[in-house]
Amino acid sequence: MILVTGGAGYIGSHAVQRLLRDGQSVVVLDNLHRGHASAIELLKHEVAKGKPSPTLALVEGEIGDYDLVLDVLKEYGVREAMHFAALAYVGESVTRPLVYYRNNTASALSLLEACDAAAVERIVFSSTCATYGEPSADQIPIPESCVQRPINPYGWSKLHTERMLLDYSAQRRNAGRPVGLAILRYFNVAGSDRVGVLGEHHHPETHLVPVVLQSLLGTRGNFGGPAGEEGRALTVFGTDYPTPDGTCIRDYVHVEDLVDAHLAVLRALRPGEDRIYNLGIGRGYSVREIIASCERVTGLRVNVKEGPRRPGDPPALYADPTKIHREIGWRASITDLDEIVRSAWEWFRKHPAGYQTGL
Ligand code: UDP
Repeated sequence: MILVTGGAGYIGSHAVQRLLRDGQSVVVLDNLHRGHASAIELLKHEVAKGKPSPTLALVEGEIGDYDLVLDVLKEYGVREAMHFAALAYVGESVTRPLVYYRNNTASALSLLEACDAAAVERIVFSSTCATYGEPSADQIPIPESCVQRPINPYGWSKLHTERMLLDYSAQRRNAGRPVGLAILRYFNVAGSDRVGVLGEHHHPETHLVPVVLQSLLGTRGNFGGPAGEEGRALTVFGTDYPTPDGTCIRDYVHVEDLVDAHLAVLRALRPGEDRIYNLGIGRGYSVREIIASCERVTGLRVNVKEGPRRPGDPPALYADPTKIHREIGWRASITDLDEIVRSAWEWFRKHPAGYQTGL
């Protein structure tokens, strides 16, 4: 049995879906503040159709609730954990740093203590390229060895947890009770499951691909964004960056590829190993290239407004993903940007209010 914290969230729910399709039983721990119980309900329907079927349970609660987590780990006989649950808005982390350190660092410590008490054997942690901060030009594409110097509390809150996990893993090795640890640093994640069950439903939505597509559908208001005319526009944050078209460059990996990497890593992970990998496709797209892709996929024109830079946005971030390919053979299978965007578009079109649509 595997524990998936944050399994009702965007990436977590796709990971749960992938694990279930692999025949693995899952217990999800999610406080449902930003996750969606309906995503788990939809997955339960999928499970019910499969034979022989794995099991899926949802426990509503906090990862920082030590007693609850220990009970869950014992009751379900959990041996492996994927830890997705976190707050992940850079801007919010600047205005509410303590909330970020509480959730992403302190509660992660409590979760780890419970995992230790229950002798969980393998841990996969969702980290982020935000731990690299603003790498110098000679460190792009970014390898795992790139110096980690975050430029916001979000990046720090994740980096502290990386450190805790590595120290804990070293201690377990020294004590002759080795644990397998994977730290996966995500770049930008986009798209949705191509069968069309799950999607990306953030509230408020701030990520580029969903915001562009929702502006075309006029549904930004349903996702905590502006309603009316303002909601039908997309503001490009900064057009004076030192990049070919002046807008920021990011590495967009399809969510199904991203979760595939988790399963591949989990399979490869042996006791005593620490594995750290960047997850991206290894090439960057500018904001204008994303807008162009959305226009190709939808056949619609984006109402583009040019605005000032968003604080904390580095000009270019994209991964050097060769390490994970060399060591365990994973690489992104969907490298066509339009295909990534198309999967997102299909879901948003059919779910104009996300998981609230028609439920
Ligand atoms: N972006 C933008 N307008 C928006 C949302 C995002 O221009 O409404 C830009 C943002 O400044 C960044 C890129 O799109 O350069 C990706 O932003 P996103 O929030 O999706 O991911 P991040 O890279 O911040 O994790």
